[in-house]
Order: sequence, then structure tokens, then C-alpha cells
Amino acid sequence: MLPPSASSGCPDPILSARAEAAYLGLALGDALGATVEFMTPREIVAQYGSHRHICGGGWLKLKPGRVTDDTTMALALGDAILRTGHVDARACGEAFDAWMRAKPVDIGNTVRRGIIEFRRTGRLASPPSEYDAGNGACMRVLPVAFATLGQPEDAVRTACRVQAHLTHNNPLSDAGTEIVVLMVQDALQGVSREALIKDRMTPFIAAHPVFDPAGKREENPSGFIKDTLRAVFQALLDTDSFEACLIDVVNRGGDADTTGAIAGMIAGPLYGLDALPLPWLAALDGATREACITQTRALLAQSLAEIG
Ligand code: MG
Ligand code: MG
Repeated sequence: MLPPSASSGCPDPILSARAEAAYLGLALGDALGATVEFMTPREIVAQYGSHRHICGGGWLKLKPGRVTDDTTMALALGDAILRTGHVDARACGEAFDAWMRAKPVDIGNTVRRGIIEFRRTGRLASPPSEYDAGNGACMRVLPVAFATLGQPEDAVRTACRVQAHLTHNNPLSDAGTEIVVLMVQDALQGVSREALIKDRMTPFIAAHPVFDPAGKREENPSGFIKDTLRAVFQALLDTDSFEACLIDVVNRGGDADTTGAIAGMIAGPLYGLDALPLPWLAALDGATREACITQTRALLAQSLAEIG
């Protein structure tokens, strides 16, 4: 593994450690959840009791520690941001196109359609569609949280949409993608769990009741952003550690790699690098682990240089 963030060269080692926890959290949630993606909670109980080890398998027949499109698209997006110094639609499209040409282990339908359209016509934004409220723009958005750290909220939201609209142009997808980035940024800045819930999640839910996590436990969450985020919000509300949050959310089944990835990118910086379970970090694919850490440090360096 790379040396700890104290030697990352970042002028703010606490921020750097939280950011690494976000990226590793995304990858760990993806790798953990992929094993039980598309299973029901009942099927998970029958096969695993409680699923709590990074062990590969699942419908993709993954080697232990391998991640899926959630993490690899985020890495592609981060590379595009590093190349141009900001969230540029064409650079993001080219990075997604190259990612798809490399034959990823899985790819969502809306993502595929958007990338093919970009490849064919150079289109930088899909037309608005009521059918594009999937979680594909949200699952990959983490590098935008690093790249826009310290920028006004409007600029953060705009950057989220630039990358999102290449494939998903829908108000619910936008709202969900933006709230995840704002929550990650709050956690990077050291906001407590209580404050994150009270000052960020609660007002968001008041403005967008479709995401309200109150009521029935979200089991078997679909790939629609509202179901995905309801499961993530419930897991964040019902647990008080990184490990418990991720175990809670992936054992709901459904789109478990993506609920795991999104819960991981928020819970990582919220609970800190030391809270990531060592057996999970040891099981995570080594090249992925190093790519996440290297890209985190490069994006933070770029973003802090911009802030001055
Ligand atoms: Mg996936
Ligand atoms: Mg998924």
C-alpha cells in the first residue's frame, strides 16, 4: 500500500486522509456490494447470513477485491479532470468513451447510450428525459467533490451536471448527484454526523420529499436514484461506524455495489481513514487501491493550488 497521507505532500494532512477515505470508501463499498448485487435480502441471508467480507463472486463472477463500473468510471472522470484542470464536458466524454472501449466488467444502459451518442455525434449533453433518473451519474461523481472543494455551491452544482448530463439529464439525478457531492464535501471539512444530517440531509429531504428515508426499510433498492439514496440515507441514519453503514446498506441487496459505493464515499470521510476495516483494505485489488490514493492526492493538489 502507499504510505499514509501524512507523507502525501498535501499541506492539509487531515483533509488528505479524509479524501483518501472517501475514495477507498467508494471502492470498498463497490467491491463488498458487488457480491450481492441483484440479490434479495432473503437470498443474501440464505447464502451468507450477513454478508460482511470482500470475497468477489456475484453475478459478475468477480475475483475477490475487484471493483465494478462505479469505481472505474470515477477513476476515468478523475483522469479527465486532472488532464484539463477542471470538469470539462468534452474531456469527460472522451474519458468515458475510452473507459467503455476498454471493455469494463459492467455498464448501465443509460451510460452506454450516452457514451455511444457522444462517440457518434460529439453530443455533450443528453436531452432531458424522465427516464434518466438512474444512479449512474451519482455513483461516479466523487472526483468532482475534490475538484470543486472550496468553490461556491452554485459552481459545485454546475460541475456535477457537466459530467452527469453526458449520460443522465434528469432533475432527480441532478438533485441526488449534487447532494452526495455536498455531503462528501461537508464530511471532508470535518462536519459531524449530526450536523451532516441536520444541516444538509434534512433540508434536502424537505425540498425533495421523494428521497425521504422515513418509513419502510428500503430493501432491494433499484437503480433509480431515489431508491438508491433512500437506502443510503437510512443506512447512514441507522448506524454509527463506516463498517456498520456499509454492511447495513449492501445487505439490502438490489443495486448493492452502487449503494455500497455511495455510502462508502460519504461514510469514509465522515468516520475517517482509521475507521476503514483493515481486512477489507487488504482484500481490495491492489492496483485499484493505489489508483484511488494516487488520484485523490493529485486532485487535491490541483484543487488546493487553485484555491491558492
Ligand atoms: Mg457497478
Ligand atoms: Mg450497481
